[in-house]
Amino acid sequence: MSRPISIPDHMLPADGRFGSGPSKVREEQVGALARAGRSLLGTSHRQAPVKDMVGRIREGLGDFLELPDGYEILLGLGGASTFWDSAAFSLVREKAQHAAFGEFGAKFAAVTDNAPFLQPSSIRTSEPGTRTEVVEEEGVDVYAWPQNETSTGVMAPVRRPDGVERATPGSDGALVVVDATSAAGGTAVDLQQTDVYYFSPQKNFASDGGLWFGAFSPAAIERIEAIAASGRWVPDVLSLNTALENSRKNQTYNTPGLAGLVMLDDQVRWLNEQGGMAWAAARTKDSSDRVYAWAEASEFARPFVTAAGDRSTVVTTVDFDDAVDATAISKTLRAHGVVDVEPYRKLGRNQLRIATFTAVDPEDVSALLSCIDLIVDQL
Ligand SMILES: *Cc1c(COP(=O)(O)O)cnc(C)c1O
Repeated sequence: MSRPISIPDHMLPADGRFGSGPSKVREEQVGALARAGRSLLGTSHRQAPVKDMVGRIREGLGDFLELPDGYEILLGLGGASTFWDSAAFSLVREKAQHAAFGEFGAKFAAVTDNAPFLQPSSIRTSEPGTRTEVVEEEGVDVYAWPQNETSTGVMAPVRRPDGVERATPGSDGALVVVDATSAAGGTAVDLQQTDVYYFSPQKNFASDGGLWFGAFSPAAIERIEAIAASGRWVPDVLSLNTALENSRKNQTYNTPGLAGLVMLDDQVRWLNEQGGMAWAAARTKDSSDRVYAWAEASEFARPFVTAAGDRSTVVTTVDFDDAVDATAISKTLRAHGVVDVEPYRKLGRNQLRIATFTAVDPEDVSALLSCIDLIVDQL
């Protein structure tokens, strides 16, 4: 056994949480939780105090996302993974097409592909670390892809595919459904380019998992209502029509975890006070630029995503030379309280994955990179 590597305290990041979800929760959010612990926690989600908070979150998310006229913020239980089943039941009329360039995109594609009441999906894949796009296709009524593929650190533009006309109520057009789970709250988006922009709150929104939120266009809302009226069997807990009716009343169909809502409420307020979407996008770009510039200059590391334009600003991935054991780096960091920089487990690469979500201080990213240099020096 070699001597354990020691990192001097003054070099360590002030906060050592760099996970891609769950992710760093700010101290102020925990303060909000403590205050709510004397009043809101443990009270009915059908009464004004909790409903007002849900309303504030919906409004705050609308402000942050610069919600276009007619779009609505809906929420439900179960997170993005549950939302995939909801989307298969309540958004896809007959056939979906997916751009699946990583684990999360592939999982949603498998959900619609396996749904017995839908046609097999069109699934466009690409090698990990690269991306692919959806393309116009006859008979497709939902086009779907992740804005940020959290398993690989690849980011994709959010824009309607060429040749696909924007759906409007009554038009029967195809919907664009974007998984923004790890993107929303830390990147810019023009919601006019999407019909559904959905996410879980445990990434850039620094809260707990277990809920999903989404911005829905008028065409998406019409689709939900049309499928609900069509006679298709939809389980109540997955029904987006049920979520729509409840969300409009600032409620959920079944009981939500209140603590996560309190932390989300605080984070949304913080994001808007700091300067909203543009501010958040600039901050994550600053943090991620530090990682990529360091990796490009490094003698033993390089960005995993070779196309610079596809590199994520919120989840960075760095490959290491064979001579440098990334697992030894992450273990040493973990022993010093710097955690969750392990790569996505199924990717199986000699890699570190560093989330540069909005809550993460860019100076902490720089400190982390210095610690990695120090560790590699001593390995
Ligand atoms: C984390 C993540 C999910 C899964 O979210 P859950 O809340 O765990 O269901 C889905 N898509 C993307 C892009 C993610 O990053």
